[in-house]
Amino acid sequence: MKADPAVQRRMLDLAEIDGELVRLAHRRRNLPEHTALTAAEAAARQARDALVEVETRTGDLDRDIRRLERDVEAVRARTERDQKILAGAGVGAKQANDLQHELDTLARRQGVLEDEQLEVMEQREALDVNLEHSTRAVAEADAAQAAIVERRDAALRDIDAAEAGRRRAREEVVADLPADLLAEYDRRRARSGVGAALLRERRCGACRLELDRTALSALRAAPPDDVVHCEECGTVLVRTPQSGL
Ligand SMILES: [Zn+2]
Repeated sequence: MKADPAVQRRMLDLAEIDGELVRLAHRRRNLPEHTALTAAEAAARQARDALVEVETRTGDLDRDIRRLERDVEAVRARTERDQKILAGAGVGAKQANDLQHELDTLARRQGVLEDEQLEVMEQREALDVNLEHSTRAVAEADAAQAAIVERRDAALRDIDAAEAGRRRAREEVVADLPADLLAEYDRRRARSGVGAALLRERRCGACRLELDRTALSALRAAPPDDVVHCEECGTVLVRTPQSGL
């Protein structure tokens, strides 16, 4: 294949742009924010789970409180009724005795219920502190996650802008290259990752290997408009005065 040496050198611009596009794609995949976001999402999930647990426990205690209130109310009503009967006229000695016995039982029952009530209320109050703490933890975890998303999106926007610029530059370079040379470049690039490289001081700019004497003399003998390749990696080698030939 033949191509004017100036056109061959233009391929180096293309290779540089493609190298930058590869680096940008690598940066996009390996943004530290990706890992940070995974961790932040896990932390937010954990905080939410903890909050749900506290809320469930709160709901259970609230239910206990309402049940105890109903129980205490029932005991009070019964006590009041018994006392009314006891104070009324026509209560026999045996009935009075039974009523008094029941009133003692009710009083003990009320004491037990009130102790239980006190204990549950204390637990419920302590849980309020947990609830506040867990709610704050969720808000903080969400905020931390949002901050990382914002940083990631800003980094992605930078990369998008850089890529768009490189693509425009690539189009300009591609317009300068004949179709057969571009096809050759693409073929070599698909195979070795680098379409064209500068031969600098007898080294291939793609694989960095130094060419041996036979290869060098072959390159020296090749007309300047011959499109030549690196024997090691297959990339198109562009010869310039710095090639050391
Ligand atoms: Zn090479």
